Amino acid sequence: MAKRIPKINEEDCIACGNCEQVCPGVFRLNESLGHSEVINSHGAPEDEIQQAIDQCPAQCISWEEEGS
Ligand code: SF4
Repeated sequence: MAKRIPKINEEDCIACGNCEQVCPGVFRLNESLGHSEVINSHGAPEDEIQQAIDQCPAQCISWEEEGS
C-alpha cells in the first residue's frame, strides 16, 4: 500500500501556526515566507497528522500519495 504524505496548499495557508503546534515533527511555520511547510512527511504518526489536517482553519492541508 502506498504511503500518504501531507501537502500544504501554500496559497491558502493563513500562517496561524496550528499545524506546527499539533504536529511539530511534520509542520513548521515559515514566517518569512508567510506559510507553513512540511519539514518531514513521516515525522509523526498518521493520526497526529490527521489531527493537524482536521484543525487547519483554512483547510489547506491534504493527503497525497507519496511519489505522486
Ligand atoms: S494550520 Fe493550516 S492555515 Fe494554519 S499554518 Fe498550518 S497549514 Fe497554515
